[in-house]
Amino acid sequence: MKDNFGRDISYLRISITDKCNLRCKYCMPEKGVSLVEHKDVMTIEEYIQVAKVFKNLGISKIRITGGEPLVKKGVVDLISGFKNIGIKEIAMTTNGILLGDMAKNLKEAGLTRVNISLDSLQEDKYRGITRGGELQKVLDGIESCKKYGITPVKLNTVVMKDVNIDEFRNFVDLTKEDDISVRFIELMPIGEAVRYKDRFVSNDELLSLYPELKPIDSMDISSPAKYYKLPKAKGNVGFINPMSCKFCGTCNRVRLTSKGQLLMCLHSNIHIELLKPLREGKDIGKIIKDAIYNKPEAHHLLEGEYNSTDMNEIGG
Ligand code: SAM
Ligand code: SF4
Repeated sequence: MKDNFGRDISYLRISITDKCNLRCKYCMPEKGVSLVEHKDVMTIEEYIQVAKVFKNLGISKIRITGGEPLVKKGVVDLISGFKNIGIKEIAMTTNGILLGDMAKNLKEAGLTRVNISLDSLQEDKYRGITRGGELQKVLDGIESCKKYGITPVKLNTVVMKDVNIDEFRNFVDLTKEDDISVRFIELMPIGEAVRYKDRFVSNDELLSLYPELKPIDSMDISSPAKYYKLPKAKGNVGFINPMSCKFCGTCNRVRLTSKGQLLMCLHSNIHIELLKPLREGKDIGKIIKDAIYNKPEAHHLLEGEYNSTDMNEIGG
């Protein structure tokens, strides 16, 4: 369905848990998340029930994210559930730690695409950024995706000053021999990351570090990424600039959290409660329609309006 500004909303991102098996410094507090009572989070059946309503309103793509979606019990059933109600594209954003063991089942259940977050190709640095993650597990996860056909794999990388900017060219070089997409996402000042604001590197600055990268046509006009390629490379490189270049005008997405809160914009503190009305048997289709119609025109990050919620709750 269309919102008040004529944007066609067809993409739902669901954060199915705010828990995670890593503690990336810019995303999660070291102590982890505060415990939410079991009754306050959506069940697998409720996600499917809500997804059916969204599908009838024109949602054709769902991305499952988190926290870490692969730590959520029932994630494979959730994917089968989405497939059975006719969702065409079922994607996931994951840190990849558990993919090595799960890729086969995920593929069989109906997962069509995966984005794997990876901020360093060096074991020690990866462990540092993630507060304990094992790089080899992510690399095994990437191989499993290739083996079971969850392809092409996309890597998501947040580049930060004095952290991993020295690895930028190495990440780009991964695309030379491999048909993968490496996407650089500018650090957004959300939740924990507000403390890392001075580590921000703009994508323009990154591009200047690799002048051989040439722009190519975007594969998807609603994608916030601008794509580039090295000469003769098999894969490609994407840049997502939420800070330095707004893509609000073509935004086609809304978000749902594991507590059943509907967010119209990643950067807004405003949410609409869906879980309570769903459990009370109310017409959530009407609530969703009204919320979509009133989706804000644009974010105001550069004017200093930040969302105070941590990324692991909203899902990135
Ligand atoms: N745990 C999964 C993962 O890491 O892919 C899914 C959730 S995570 C919140 C989704 C993405 O958000 C990751 O690629 C992560 O790097 C990114 N992210 C988290 N905090 C961010 C921030 N402040 N700015 C930009 N990207 C961020
Ligand atoms: Fe976990 Fe993903 Fe946040 Fe890292 S970025 S702490 S893996 S939710």
